[in-house]
Amino acid sequence: MADVARARTAEIIAVGSELLTPFRLDTNSLFLTGRLNDLGIDVRRKTVVGDDPQDLGGALTGSLERADVVILTGGLGPTADDVTRETVASVLARPMHEDAAVLEAIRARFERRGAAMPAINRRQALVPEGARVLPNPNGTAPGLTLELDDHVIALLPGPPRELQPMFDAHVLPLLATRWPGRRLHRRVLKVTGRSESQVEEIAHPIYSRLSTPEVTITTSILASPGQIELQLAASGRQPAAIDAALDAGVEELAAALAPAVFSTDGRALEVVVCDLLRARRWKIAAAESCTGGLLLGRLTDVPGSSALVLGGVVAYDNQLKIDALGVPAEVLAAHGAVSAEVARAMAEGARRRFGADVAVAITGIAGPSGGTEAKPVGTVALALDGPEPVARVVWFPGDRAMVRALSVAAGLELVRRAASRLPA
Ligand code: AMP
Ligand code: MG
Repeated sequence: MADVARARTAEIIAVGSELLTPFRLDTNSLFLTGRLNDLGIDVRRKTVVGDDPQDLGGALTGSLERADVVILTGGLGPTADDVTRETVASVLARPMHEDAAVLEAIRARFERRGAAMPAINRRQALVPEGARVLPNPNGTAPGLTLELDDHVIALLPGPPRELQPMFDAHVLPLLATRWPGRRLHRRVLKVTGRSESQVEEIAHPIYSRLSTPEVTITTSILASPGQIELQLAASGRQPAAIDAALDAGVEELAAALAPAVFSTDGRALEVVVCDLLRARRWKIAAAESCTGGLLLGRLTDVPGSSALVLGGVVAYDNQLKIDALGVPAEVLAAHGAVSAEVARAMAEGARRRFGADVAVAITGIAGPSGGTEAKPVGTVALALDGPEPVARVVWFPGDRAMVRALSVAAGLELVRRAASRLPA
């Protein structure tokens, strides 16, 4: 007898010979995995196959033996190398027929652009018996779903901007109604200024006992330069119980990791900083040396940042630090460009000259050359000028890209702490 509570499984097959070259990556499966997990469906295997009926047929046959849900992406185009539709029909031994409505929709799409439909596009109107056609408002290739006794199979177009809305509009509701029950809820705590092992040491004793008989919570740690994410995924049958267990877990972890936790609602560090600047009615300026404008780049990625960011200077050259920021030549001579004194003078200069409420400065040695015994590669001076000035020299590990990314995160963190009145 079927176990109704059993966690359902899925496999994803990404079809496209370009995905087997060094030039294209299968990203559709990342989107699909997120959505399937939200439905409580485990993704057990992902396969990438070229545009080859034999390879695809073999992959599909294997997936159908193992998984409840099989999602194929790509290969629905009009050209001879698009083989997904035909291969699925042949593996399932279902004849195909031309669907008049689909053909008309494709023809109309061409007509709207003032063109006649090329004859080859007619193939896209072929539908395996029993399949449901999913309209594609963003392209010519319609999607297809097949509901079998034990399986759901979906065929979706390759381009992410066509696949994503189609999945959400048609496949997601289908799966949710077919297998109601287990759901997966997620939360993420984002931390900066701590290493992965520091976070693990504090968090492990807490997250290892978050699960309850009703709710299973699994935690994973994701590290990227300047940021550690603690991802909590909880599954159970009662949405309210899942949320309650997650809320309690997040609260306990956030308290233990404070003040290094900058968000528990998914916001990125630069977004948190912008929200704080807005709340404080602060305008910010920056003086960047080794980060070359990357800090202002991240801040101005945020929509609405033009009301908060005045601007800044990229002052790589020492003379420019003097001319554009008013760093005293004696301070540069006495302490060197990578020093707390110069970083402080850069921040003061940026704040004063640009009329900002708060200014942040970064000057460091990103490498690979330029290091000395006293100031090795990775030495970075950071300063903030504002209500409570801060200046310090730190050392970051890693290559040039890593040192720059860590410097930007540390600079943004200085602003976050100042704006939320946390100790720097
Ligand atoms: P197709 O539907 O096979 O004609 O794919 C059209 C385009 O969609 C390809 O050229 C890729 O740029 C893109 N695409 C196909 N499969 C994927 C995938 N798995 N992930 C991301 N993009 C894809
Ligand atoms: Mg293709």
